[in-house]
Amino acid sequence: MDVKKLFSLEGKKGFITGGAQGIGACLAKAFSELGAEVGIVDINPEKASATAQAIARETGGKVKAYACDVTCPAQVQSMMESFLNDFGEITFAVNNAGIFTGEGVLDIDPKTYESVIDVNLNGVFYTAQAAARQMVKQGKGGSIVSTASMSAHIINRPQTIANYCASKAGIIQLTKGMAVELAKYHIRCNTVSPGYIQTDLIATMKDMLSTWSGMMPEGSRLGFPEDLIGAYVYFVSDASEFATGSDLVVDGGYTIV
Ligand code: NAP
Repeated sequence: MDVKKLFSLEGKKGFITGGAQGIGACLAKAFSELGAEVGIVDINPEKASATAQAIARETGGKVKAYACDVTCPAQVQSMMESFLNDFGEITFAVNNAGIFTGEGVLDIDPKTYESVIDVNLNGVFYTAQAAARQMVKQGKGGSIVSTASMSAHIINRPQTIANYCASKAGIIQLTKGMAVELAKYHIRCNTVSPGYIQTDLIATMKDMLSTWSGMMPEGSRLGFPEDLIGAYVYFVSDASEFATGSDLVVDGGYTIV
């Protein structure tokens, strides 16, 4: 068996939502380095273009930016059409855009509550559905990976983010449902559940870093986007040919204690 080929992303083509920064941007660069052609999908067009250009310059690969609000099915559809015009086909999709709010159960207003469910859960569905429909048309299978969270498995403390936890738990069940329905088309659907990763998403909660570290096994640390590359490369590459409906927790051991 050619192990290097197994983990290679040569010839793979797909998009990463929330790809303009943080975890998504780190994955886009890693995928490009491994030979994939990548679409960076993000709500902010300038940031998406700047990230795509910077990665293409660094890796010499084909990286393009698409402005798209993943909560809007019409925008997702038009992003998919532009992606296909540029790349010709799609073989993977990473549904990674996500937001969070800190209001507690007693205080949160319906709009704020719904915004998190809309981006984190509905947005994942719309982009996964668009990719899956195209993969079925192509008839060659594909890999759909969505970013859940350790918050799908535990409730974070001391912050109050019940809606975020619910959205992430929803992604895992949604993914299992898609995995069952799409298996006959050889489309694999999996999730990665990161622990605390130091990106802008948690930048406003810097005062909690030591509290969170204290909740982890002694000697463990909080994560960086680079800590997740292996998990996503596994799911997008042919190495995970036998994995579907799986959730891979990458959290430095946070959820085991
Ligand atoms: P991040 O740095 O905030 O990046 C998220 C990106 O998604 C941003 O560029 C954001 O754009 C974009 N985005 C937000 N709403 C969007 C929408 N409606 N349509 C398209 N793009 C949108 O976050 P991150 O830490 O990289 O997180 C990436 C994923 O990992 C999220 O799903 C998050 O829940 C998950 N996760 C993160 C952690 C962590 O500790 N960081 C842990 C577990 C799971 P704007 O900035 O312009 O809004």
